[in-house]
Amino acid sequence: MLKKGLIINNISNIYIVETKEKTYETTARGKFKKDDIKPLVGDIVEIEIINEEDSKAVINKINKRTTYLKRPKIANISQILLVVSLKMPCPDLLMLDKQLAFLEYLNIRPIIVLNKIDLEDEKVIENIENTYKNIGYDVIKTNAKTGQGVLELKEELKGNISAFAGNSGVGKSTLINGLFRNNITQEGDISQKNKRGKNTTTNISLYKIDNNSYIADTPGFSTFDIYEIESKNLEKYFIEFKKYIKYCEFIGCSHIKEQNCGIKTAIENGKISKERYERYIKIFNDIKDKEEHKW
Ligand code: GDP
Ligand code: ZN
Repeated sequence: MLKKGLIINNISNIYIVETKEKTYETTARGKFKKDDIKPLVGDIVEIEIINEEDSKAVINKINKRTTYLKRPKIANISQILLVVSLKMPCPDLLMLDKQLAFLEYLNIRPIIVLNKIDLEDEKVIENIENTYKNIGYDVIKTNAKTGQGVLELKEELKGNISAFAGNSGVGKSTLINGLFRNNITQEGDISQKNKRGKNTTTNISLYKIDNNSYIADTPGFSTFDIYEIESKNLEKYFIEFKKYIKYCEFIGCSHIKEQNCGIKTAIENGKISKERYERYIKIFNDIKDKEEHKW
């Protein structure tokens, strides 16, 4: 019998596949090895039941992936929650802009979570919030400690495979705990598992929040891979630039030293945030540097 399921866990060559009714312990068919394809956590697969009683099956087919994250290796992540702490630690907006560009490149939806709103003035929070809302990003404000904003966050997770990213100490574990607080599942304490797992294993699991909603317990993702983006393409992933690039006089304008630049004009007219632009330059130069030192 054939069934469709989702790989929620993988230890060496065993894949745990969740179907509508139950979970199966599966292995991959030899043909995948031959084609040099390895099933990944997050893959939607077709399995053939070998032994119903023992819940044993084999993976027959891997559905086409909608997204693919290399580090950590995971398929079909539809969105990543970029957690920014307002104080302790201070907001790292350069990191946030790097992450945003990288997610645009990967075609994964970013959601910005401004956490620790209890520690910062409303004005400051609003300023950051508006910068990103004006671009078109979704911003959720939370106090993970009291649970404020967590329900709104939970709404956004519905029907998605989501992961959390952000520097250490921004509140990821506290948020995840909050999301699971009302769930009577054995996975109730995934953040504790996560913490323990950090040094001992790179194994990734998906945890169910409710039907069709999962959280990947990854320690985040690496922005190191932002160097996959060529400096000349970075403008594409600063999505608010798009509208104004056509006003640049020079084809291939990098929007830094050139005259008659549509982006610079947009900044002067208050259409693009100057701070975002300044971080664009930093990231651009950073990538350029790497390109020039490549052999
Ligand atoms: P992680 O490293 O990103 O998983 O961060 P944690 O969840 O471990 O949180 C780091 C510290 O920040 C802990 O002491 C939390 O209690 C605290 N914290 C998390 N969220 C908030 C918040 O919204 N407000 C305040 N005041 N503290 C928070
Ligand atoms: Zn330009």
